[in-house]
Amino acid sequence: MDPVRDLVVVGASLAGLRAVEAARRKGYDGRITLVGAEPHLPYDRPPLSKAFLDEGTTPEAPPFRSEEHLREELGVDLLLGTPATGLDASDRVLEAGDREVRYDRLIVATGAAARTLPGTEGVAGVHALRTLDDAVAIRTALDAGARTVVVGAGFIGSEVASGARKRGLPVTIVESLDVPLTRSVGPDAGRVCAELHRANGADLRLGRGVRELLVADGRAVGVLLDDGTRVDADLVVAGIGVVPSTGWLRDSGIALHERDGALLCDATLATSLPGVYGAGDVAYWPNPLFDDQLMRLEHWTNAAEHGAAAAAHALDPAAAVPVASVPYFWSDWYGHRIQFVGVPQADEVVVLAEEPYLALYRRGERVVGALTVDRPTQIMKLRKLVSQRASWTEAREFAEGLPAVRAPQRTR
Ligand code: FAD
Ligand code: NAP
Repeated sequence: MDPVRDLVVVGASLAGLRAVEAARRKGYDGRITLVGAEPHLPYDRPPLSKAFLDEGTTPEAPPFRSEEHLREELGVDLLLGTPATGLDASDRVLEAGDREVRYDRLIVATGAAARTLPGTEGVAGVHALRTLDDAVAIRTALDAGARTVVVGAGFIGSEVASGARKRGLPVTIVESLDVPLTRSVGPDAGRVCAELHRANGADLRLGRGVRELLVADGRAVGVLLDDGTRVDADLVVAGIGVVPSTGWLRDSGIALHERDGALLCDATLATSLPGVYGAGDVAYWPNPLFDDQLMRLEHWTNAAEHGAAAAAHALDPAAAVPVASVPYFWSDWYGHRIQFVGVPQADEVVVLAEEPYLALYRRGERVVGALTVDRPTQIMKLRKLVSQRASWTEAREFAEGLPAVRAPQRTR
C-alpha cells in the first residue's frame, strides 16, 4: 500500500480534532488539513447549554486548542469557514470553497445540524442551539429577561429550561411525547427527569405540539399550542433533534442511511468509499458490544473515541479493530447531574435507589445500562461493568453495594 501523505479531516469539532491529535500521537508526519464550516477554532459544545447561559459570567467558549497549538504543535493546515461541498472519490479530491484538496485518507466528522421549527426562518427571537453563535443569541435574550418557551424536552430543551429557571425567568416546555427522553433513557427514568422540571418551576406541557408561532413585527411573541392554548414568549428555543450533516456527500456515491442520511460505516468506521472513514455524531457503525447493533450516538464521549479510532484505522487499516463502545452521556439540570451508560432498550429496569437515583437496565442475563442522578463518581464503574458484559447478578450486587452519597456536582 502507498504511504499516506495527505490526511484530510472534514468537520473541525470534537471528532475531527481528536482524529488530528490521534494521527500525530501515532507518529504520522504527513500533511493534515482540517476543513471546517464554522469560522471558529474547534470548541466544546456541552458548556453552551450549561455554564455559558449563566447570569453574571463572561460568556466564553474557549477553543479546545489555540490556533498556535493546532498550526505549530500539531502541524495542521486549517481551512475554517469553508464548508466542504463535494467529494470526488475516484480522484480522491475534496471540494471546499474554491479549493480542491487531495487526500490519501479522509475522515468525515461533520456531525449534525439542529432541526429548526418549520416556517420560522428569519423570525427574531426563535433559535436552535448547536453552535457558539446560537448560544450567544440565546444568552443575549436571557440577559434581557426573556419569557421563554422551549420546544422539545430532550437534552437541549431541558438544559436551556434549567438555565432560564436559574435566572428566575418563566419557562414553558412543550414536548410531543407523554414521557420525555423515552428513546434516550426509557420511560421510567424519563418520568424521574420530568419531575425535575416540575420541582423547579418549569411549566411542562407533555403530549403537546406547537400549532403556530405567533409573530409581531418580525419577532416572536408567543406560541399557540395544539390544544388552543396561547403561551406568550420573547424567546422560543427549538430543541427538537438534529439532522446529520451529509448533504454535501449526496453525489459522492458514499453509502448513507436511508432513514436519516447519516454515514454508514463498518465496525472499524470505514465507509463504503476507499480511504474514507466516519466519526462522531454523523456516523452509524455496528457496535460489537451490543450484538453489532447499528448505532449512531449524539454524545461527546463517543465523538471523542470515534475520532481517535477513525484516524488510527485510516492510517493503518491492517491493524484496524472493531470499535466497541459503551454509550455514555451526562446532562446537567437544576444543579443535578444525570448520567447514563449503555442502552435503554431493556427487558427490565430496576430502580435500586430513589435518592440519589440509581437504576440498572437488564437484557436477558446481562446488564446493558445504568442511570444515575448525582452519583458522578459511580457511573464509570457501572460503565465498566457494561463493557465487560457483566452478568445481571454481578451488576446488581455491585450496584447495591454502592454508597448512597450525593457527590458534589461538577459543571463544565
Ligand atoms: P459536531 O460537534 O456537530 O461538529 C461537526 C462540525 O462539522 C461542526 O463544526 C460543523 O460546522 C462542521 N461541518 C458540518 N458540515 C460541514 C461541511 N460540509 N464542511 C466542513 N465542516 C462541516 N454530549 C454529551 O455527552 N453531554 C453533554 O452534556 C452534551 N451537551 C451538549 C450541548 C450542546 C449545546 C450541544 C449542541 C451538544 C451537546 N452534546 C453533549 C453533544 C456533543 O457536543 C456532540 O455529540 C459532539 O459535539 C459531536 O461531535 P462531532 O465532532 O461528531 O460533531
Ligand atoms: P433530542 O435529545 O433528540 O430531543 C428532542 C426532543 O424533542 C424529543 O423528545 C422529540 O420527541 C421532541 N420533539 C421533536 N419534534 C418536536 C416538536 N415539533 N414539538 C415538540 N417536541 C418535539 O434532541 P435535542 O434535545 O434537540 O438535542 C440536540 C443534540 O444535542 C442531540 O444530538 C443531543 O444529543 C445533543 N445534546 C446532548 C446533551 C447531553 O447529552 N447532555 C445536551 C444537549 C444537547 P421525539 O422523540 O418524539 O422526536
